[in-house]
Amino acid sequence: MTYDIQPAGSHFIDGAYVEDTAGTPIPVICPYSEKQIATVHAATPAIIEQALTSARRAQKDWAAMTGTERGRVLRRAADLMRERNHALSVLETHDTGKPLQETLVADATSGADALEYFGGLAGALTGEHIQLGEDFVYTRREPLGVCVGIGAWNYPTQIAAWKGAPALACGNAMIFKPSETTPLCALKVAEILHEAGAPAGIYNVVQGMGEVGQALITDPRVNKVSLTGSVPTGRKVYAAAAEGIRHVTMELGGKSPLVIFDDANLEDAVSGAILGNFYSSGQVCSNGTRVFVQRGIKQAFLDRLTERLKDVKMGDPQDESVNFGPMVSQRQMEIVQGFIAKGLEEGARLVAGGDRVGDRGYFLQPTVFADVTDGMTIAQDEIFGPVLSVLDFDEEDEVLARANATDFGLAAGVFTQDLTRAHRMVAGFEAGTCYINTYNLAPVEAPFGGSKLSGVGRENSKAAIEHYSQMKSVYVAMGAVEAPF
Ligand code: NAD
Repeated sequence: MTYDIQPAGSHFIDGAYVEDTAGTPIPVICPYSEKQIATVHAATPAIIEQALTSARRAQKDWAAMTGTERGRVLRRAADLMRERNHALSVLETHDTGKPLQETLVADATSGADALEYFGGLAGALTGEHIQLGEDFVYTRREPLGVCVGIGAWNYPTQIAAWKGAPALACGNAMIFKPSETTPLCALKVAEILHEAGAPAGIYNVVQGMGEVGQALITDPRVNKVSLTGSVPTGRKVYAAAAEGIRHVTMELGGKSPLVIFDDANLEDAVSGAILGNFYSSGQVCSNGTRVFVQRGIKQAFLDRLTERLKDVKMGDPQDESVNFGPMVSQRQMEIVQGFIAKGLEEGARLVAGGDRVGDRGYFLQPTVFADVTDGMTIAQDEIFGPVLSVLDFDEEDEVLARANATDFGLAAGVFTQDLTRAHRMVAGFEAGTCYINTYNLAPVEAPFGGSKLSGVGRENSKAAIEHYSQMKSVYVAMGAVEAPF
């Protein structure tokens, strides 16, 4: 099967595509051809109202089903997603520009994993029993109600499923707003869930910019918001949620350290640095963009890295042999070009890349800077593009302190053959997701999320259940009630 690029309607509400052309048109631009390939319309107040009303209504019946019944729907949706992986990946590649080689293995498949995993957990969710002499307390694990998910543009299918799967497993309804830059694939997630048996309204998708997100999260009928986005957006969304004391999950930006000791396996360390800087053309939140390399291995590391970059193949991302795609948008390309210029201006040594490639498609070369120092802009700010900075270090204590000298705390990695040093380093890292001798894997079984400015809460794993459900304590007396008078 193949999907039409232009969706049948901008939004998916109450089990069907809907349209309201009164909303601001949002052009969908293919990052490879730079052509407009579809148009969606931002949600109007009428569309937002429809989404909220239907989610509110649907949630009660969904929560009344058994966990096993809800799980069955999610697992069926996982199967449908896997069957349609190729079509979904082609669409994701049109929308994001990520090479088909990547989207075939990292987007719908990862979404399907989340649906399958939380589908499996749904029937096993329980409260507990606490004996207090004769009396006892039991806890009921209850859904939060209506959850709003707001997505970034780098992993649209994955984000839609990572938020939807645990929310639905726990008996919530979800209204998902994709990024305005990549609005297409979340609609397919909604369509598939509906086809798998999710009741109308339990997973709605509405399009729009920040205002639509704000309108959703400030509505009194909404109980939770889960955002994947930048720190500045996180601040606004968190503040809006705080007004109504709503639950939040914040998956925000990072500037993560990747520390490579002299004794590291060089080939693996270079592979880790490539995965942590150039996969998805560097547009990954957990990227290890500050690569601290111990002085003894520095030259060998730079030589091998630049050699491996010769195997980069750019081109039409729909061609499965292409392994490096364009940036998602002209704007993002220009932001990254600005950072590269800043790196040069502040005295970093350009070892590879640095330029735009061709004049069609938002392609930037994978870029490597050496001799980067901690105070440089490229070592401090999240770039969200294919720019790797190599910083030198001598001692373990020194590098740990420098690795942590950032307000972000999403991820961190270490390459070394010294077992105790590896564990000492991860114990010291101020980051939510750490790696030893690998980088950037995010299996659904493991919690994923950040500390410090990089976020609040965790996605994936059993930990996500705590963020999509709440406990009700029920005290049961077995004897007479004693009162003071
Ligand atoms: P962004 O912050 O610009 O936008 C994210 C989403 O928030 C979009 O859907 C946008 O429309 C919406 N939004 C913007 N303003 C809003 C407001 N005031 N109220 C409600 N919603 C609002 O981020 P982006 O440019 O789409 O994505 C890149 C950022 O996302 C990077 O910082 C990256 O690190 C981060 N990210 C984090 C993770 C993670 O899991 N930690 C994953 C991917 C991306």
